[in-house]
Amino acid sequence: MFVLREAFLVLRLLANPRLWPSIFRTLTTVLRHVFRSGFQPGEGPSGAGAARGSRRARLAALITHYRRFRLGRWTWHRGRLVESTFVPPFPSRAFDRALESVLSGQLDKPMFVHLAVTSACPAGCGHCSLRGRTAANLPTAKWVDVIAQLNGLGVSTIALTGGEPATRDDLPQLVQAAHDGGAAVQLFTSGIGLTAARIGELQEAGLGAIGVSLDHTCAAVVDQQRCWPGAFDAAVAALRHARRTGMYTFINAVADRASVISDEPRRLLELASRLGIDELRLLEPVPCGGLIEHPDRLLQPEHVAELRRLHHENNRRRRGPKLLAISEIESREMHGCVAGSLHLFVDPRGDVCPCDFVPWSFGNVLHTPLEAIWRNMRRVLGTPRTECLSRLLGQNPASDRPKQPLGCSPDAAPPSLESLPGNTLPGFYGQVMAAFGLSGTRGIGNLCKRG
Ligand code: SF4
Repeated sequence: MFVLREAFLVLRLLANPRLWPSIFRTLTTVLRHVFRSGFQPGEGPSGAGAARGSRRARLAALITHYRRFRLGRWTWHRGRLVESTFVPPFPSRAFDRALESVLSGQLDKPMFVHLAVTSACPAGCGHCSLRGRTAANLPTAKWVDVIAQLNGLGVSTIALTGGEPATRDDLPQLVQAAHDGGAAVQLFTSGIGLTAARIGELQEAGLGAIGVSLDHTCAAVVDQQRCWPGAFDAAVAALRHARRTGMYTFINAVADRASVISDEPRRLLELASRLGIDELRLLEPVPCGGLIEHPDRLLQPEHVAELRRLHHENNRRRRGPKLLAISEIESREMHGCVAGSLHLFVDPRGDVCPCDFVPWSFGNVLHTPLEAIWRNMRRVLGTPRTECLSRLLGQNPASDRPKQPLGCSPDAAPPSLESLPGNTLPGFYGQVMAAFGLSGTRGIGNLCKRG
């Protein structure tokens, strides 16, 4: 049934001749890597040795990987297909960039970049990951320059976040700069201050997806969490406005321990379904920012297992919102942790960190070209790893309490890498690299240890 549905979507795409050149470009990229010569078997960790070297095996591996590692399901949005917020829309330049980076085995382009374009925010959430960082608001020209540098590096997806990015009057200009340079553009917002007219303006500028934070289905709880009366209504109104534009719309929800125990993710899914939302993203709390003081909100293995189960259970359905549980996506069997290898975060002051939840600055865009910072970060952190870097560096495995070596601010001393294990490639990257003849892990903590 899934195959039929996907075949129908492909036919729908092909019915639009204006998309043929883009589809042809993507197909060429795939075939070039499947049929490339000079193939050198790699030392991928997946044990897929039998698949190495043969073009037929590479093609088979692609199909198997597609089915096994698919995150959501394809849906139609304004003339293009979207699998989930973790894959750029197809066809698009952003999609081709991600595909090229993975199939070439280079994994050398930042795939997901989050830009906290302001620290200003009307809300005051206790779990805000920005807590502890210096408040700042870089000028428009600087952010446009950063975005141009990212597009120059071949970024796939740029998400604008904060603080509350909607507090910036120049937000459409930033969206436009990201979109015109070829990236897929997303917005993470609380919905506060986001009117229908403003959303329309952002869509015109090239915004592809809008994610509204909503951690609970009870209005009073959300208002209290955000310290903003009316926060729940603002979030729901923003979701409704975005739906009306036909834009890909998703809910960002932090699924903390109490939420999982009380079955709140299911209620959020029902709410998303009633609102006609495309995706519910369930974020796992990480010991960083405001959550450093609340280890009781972090998940235990049984809660993680429950979220992963929900992810699978929901995505077997053919209708309704997709459910993307970060606990599943960032598991060692799937995509693992891509902090500093495929993901980076630029904070409101311009400090470039491996992830929103790893306040470890590798440089500041005000003083250093982004490419130099990115290269250094990759030299140190290398390829994707099986474990969350934030937890590896910040959580004391002997207890529930974070040991806080990172502090909350990038001004703190860089963490010691002595205890950082070398990288093992997570399932997806390990298998793709093995099948496409690449050589397993690179860089990483190992490199730091060697000095
Ligand atoms: S450090 Fe890695 S796994 Fe942890 S939240 Fe960041 S990207 Fe995800």
